[in-house]
Amino acid sequence: MSPATYRASAFVQAARSLGLEAVVGLDLPEQLADYWHVPLGLDFAQVAASVEAIVAYAREQPFVAILSVDDSATELAAYANLALGLVNNSPQASEAARDKLMMRQLMSAGGAPCPIFRSFWLHDEPDWIATQISYPCVVKPRRLSGSRGVIRADNPAEFRVAFERLKRLLISEGASEHDTTILVEDFIPGVEVALEGLLTAGKLKVLTLFDKPDPLDGPFFEETIYVTPSRLPEQTQQAIAECVATASAALGLRTGPVHAELRVNEQGPWMLEIAGRSIGGLCSTILEFGSGMCLEELILRHAVGEKVEMLEREQQAAGVMMIPIPGAGILKGVHGIEAAEAVPLITGVEITAKLNNQLVPLPEGASYLGFIFARGGTPAEVEAAIRQAHQCLRFEIRREIPILNLKGAS
Ligand code: ADP
Ligand code: CA
Repeated sequence: MSPATYRASAFVQAARSLGLEAVVGLDLPEQLADYWHVPLGLDFAQVAASVEAIVAYAREQPFVAILSVDDSATELAAYANLALGLVNNSPQASEAARDKLMMRQLMSAGGAPCPIFRSFWLHDEPDWIATQISYPCVVKPRRLSGSRGVIRADNPAEFRVAFERLKRLLISEGASEHDTTILVEDFIPGVEVALEGLLTAGKLKVLTLFDKPDPLDGPFFEETIYVTPSRLPEQTQQAIAECVATASAALGLRTGPVHAELRVNEQGPWMLEIAGRSIGGLCSTILEFGSGMCLEELILRHAVGEKVEMLEREQQAAGVMMIPIPGAGILKGVHGIEAAEAVPLITGVEITAKLNNQLVPLPEGASYLGFIFARGGTPAEVEAAIRQAHQCLRFEIRREIPILNLKGAS
């Protein structure tokens, strides 16, 4: 896991309650790992060295399974599992699930419906690219997540602005324009859903299907509300599951959790993305399987070889909102949490943004203000409760006085 992941405590607690001994491999420089007594400090950017460190560790204390709790180490986990002869996705499948260009190439080759796409270099001339693509389109980076850098453009003028904005973001993240490509693909209209699934020897088990009831029409694509069970017709849900199974096979994903996002319109489901991990943030909090098993426990049981495919999500409706950042600035205060928590069906409000820290909205930002959780009743009631709770919250954000960069100003 990476030090900043939201997913750490859910997995560590699940391991503890199962009586499994978990060794946390953390993306940290070795000196810091020693200082903080982290047993297995790893540099995720140095895959070969990290695999070596894991293998050396396993010689003393053998592992039953190695899994990445989020996207940050899926490829490393695949290489380490391979080196130790443990069940896992192939490194190539893990890479494809993180690289949006490879993903599109494999999806289209494997017959999973997905947008028409093209890749371009960051140093390509935007005026030229603008003549090569159709509109509306979506511009996106290959390897960021959380909708960072994903921008819709409806015409060449909007495209140029979107392209320059994505380019600035990637360069600020350390990319070089000469060895970086980006993706431009058709904008797919329709409603959006997210499927949480589990693969066993290539066979997909749907754990749950979420509707995303807020329209996601761009130009930026902030995640907001997820509600399950889906209100889409049974037949559509079936088609979605088949589409995800086809996409998993196309990428070569065979085992462990998958989190897929799709659009659905008159033509049927379209794959946006499939990741070889479970749902992000604190969203899994609302999920329960069998009699009270959390998602992380289910995933760990599966990883150590237990049969969990017969477990079903409990019957209640459930939902979560990733609270969007309304504007850039410094978070000075959060009000109304108690009122939000008092809304019927609301099971929790968790503010994860830190006071006095900088808030960066999309498309550049990478986090949420927090989460609102709800359960019970129908999906519509859960959705209404979440919206009502969100209305109770007020965020005090002090706008930054822009610092003029005279030298670099254009
Ligand atoms: P990320 O990995 O950053 O989440 P995605 O490719 O999933 O990137 O894009 C983020 C969001 O942008 C999607 O959930 C969707 O709402 C929107 N989006 C991305 N690509 C398309 C597309 N081709 N058509 C319509 N919406 C899209
Ligand atoms: Ca996504």
